[in-house]
Amino acid sequence: MNVFLTFDVEVWCKSWSTLDADFPTSFERYVFGRSAKGQYALPKTLEVLDKSGLRGVFFVEPLFAARFGLEPLATIINLIQDAGQEIQLHLHPEWTDEADPPLLAGGAGKRQLLSDYSADEQCQLIEHGLKLIQEAGAARPIAFRSGSFACNQDTFAAVAANQLSFDSSINPEMPVSQPGGIVADMAGYCEPFRVGDLTLLPMSSFRDGFQQPRHAQIGACSARELIEAMQAAERSGWSSFVLLSHNFELMVPNSSRPDSFVVRRFDKLCRFLAQNRAIFPTAGFGDLPPVPEPSGLELPSVSKAATITRYVEQGLRRLT
Ligand SMILES: [Zn+2]
Repeated sequence: MNVFLTFDVEVWCKSWSTLDADFPTSFERYVFGRSAKGQYALPKTLEVLDKSGLRGVFFVEPLFAARFGLEPLATIINLIQDAGQEIQLHLHPEWTDEADPPLLAGGAGKRQLLSDYSADEQCQLIEHGLKLIQEAGAARPIAFRSGSFACNQDTFAAVAANQLSFDSSINPEMPVSQPGGIVADMAGYCEPFRVGDLTLLPMSSFRDGFQQPRHAQIGACSARELIEAMQAAERSGWSSFVLLSHNFELMVPNSSRPDSFVVRRFDKLCRFLAQNRAIFPTAGFGDLPPVPEPSGLELPSVSKAATITRYVEQGLRRLT
């Protein structure tokens, strides 16, 4: 079973009204995350993957560069490329109206989600993103993930029209990520499937110890939940499992201090994947063999103990 360790890489400022003043500090935190203990944004994430000999997929958000220039985007691209990891395209269209000049003709204010845009606008925004990422030094991406997992039928048409081969925008647990239509009938979204020439790899979910569906995010699940979910998925015959993290998940919110709980969890997950690489090889889109036809598999379930571990960790994190 191929494991996709995916990281959405993005930079956020405190407020849209103070972008220019906030950007230098925000960029430092989101990209480097310097603290007395080390650099826990991209550098530490890349270091742990490298130490474990694992492949990661970095979905990089480039539209901020239409406001702040290519250099900061090139810094992100270089960090990831120098670590030998894969770069794909992520898009937060919140930046569309902040770009200088605006990315779309006509303006019309801020629209947060890609699915708030027309089919033609989605196509143009993806094209802008691909252009920026290549101008900043990356190879042309072949996979796409929409910001906030927002997608509709037009999104997949726009992704395909831009000659991308893979899309990982569907997250079955998020209301903005229910595209309906042709894909609604496909295997309950838990397996990869094809629509025309495009292969869709939805975000993976599992049932926690109390039967609640939950997406497999490193910052939001215990290591034991993630490991048990992958083991159950593999036993059920899943061909791939997609995990989510971000460039900032190893840090305490609004700070560059490492979050020791998430750091330990990420370490534990990576150790498990390194020790079990024959059964759970980490994969990128660049080396993915054709995915099998969906066969209607169910969500994997994990034990109560695995979920209770998360509750305990969450409680302790609030105290620290
Ligand atoms: Zn994002």
